[in-house]
Amino acid sequence: MTRKEFLRLLTFVLGGLAMPLPATSHPVHRAPALFAGHGSPMNAIETNAFTHSLRELGKSLEKPKAILVVSAHWTPPYFGVSVHQNSDLKYDFFGFPKALEEVQYPAGNAAFLLPTLNKLFTPLQVKDRGLDHGAWSVLVHLFPDADIPVMQLGIHRGLSLREHFEVGKRLKALREQGVMIIGSGNITHNLQEARMPKEAPAVKWAVDFDDYVKKAIIERDFEALIDVENRNRYTRLAHPTLEHYIPLLYVAGASFDDDENRFVYEGMEHGSLSMRSWLLQSIL
Ligand code: ZN
Repeated sequence: MTRKEFLRLLTFVLGGLAMPLPATSHPVHRAPALFAGHGSPMNAIETNAFTHSLRELGKSLEKPKAILVVSAHWTPPYFGVSVHQNSDLKYDFFGFPKALEEVQYPAGNAAFLLPTLNKLFTPLQVKDRGLDHGAWSVLVHLFPDADIPVMQLGIHRGLSLREHFEVGKRLKALREQGVMIIGSGNITHNLQEARMPKEAPAVKWAVDFDDYVKKAIIERDFEALIDVENRNRYTRLAHPTLEHYIPLLYVAGASFDDDENRFVYEGMEHGSLSMRSWLLQSIL
């Protein structure tokens, strides 16, 4: 984006043309935070136990004011947020059926969050960027009506795991304003080690790593998640690159001590792809 285009976008956003913050006549409830294991893009158009769990979860939640997604599929070298100006999605994968490129998710943008985000992240770059499949493949099931404004926060690729966790802490303020946080990745993600069929038996290293993360979440031992590279010998096998793991740290960082903590889905696909999904929700 050129500087001129950026300024035009900012004028658009600050000029009030973006979707306004919905007025409320009732107190704002803390919105949930969800880590969703998104798995194959095919989940967007399939009906299976995983997609069923997302649909049931969406029906059970109070509708948030907006959704901020931290997706494994956007890793810019800066703090960036997306403010899409049209409903074009990114079909950011190769070798899948054409039907996947017909998926639509015409949710509005959440530009009204920019003043808050500008305080949380300085400097912050605003991008006119369509939702990527890490976001929409989950949202089509979770909130199929596409009637909640959505924005993505990029994973700043220059940060350490600890720094990502610290960034996640800043997102607590958004939850208090009724903004749901979704981290979209996978607890294990090594496509070179994926096995066919989808129901292939789970391999030991994937089960071990998934169990390690499960235990850390149950015990709220977030230091174990941050220091995973030193503490779990299968980390490099589970994550040759860490972008699918990092969204987990944003959700952990955005947790409150009094949140209910539960897994809304668990299961292994292709022998080594954990689909475990984790919800944090206020029970007050
Ligand atoms: Zn992915």
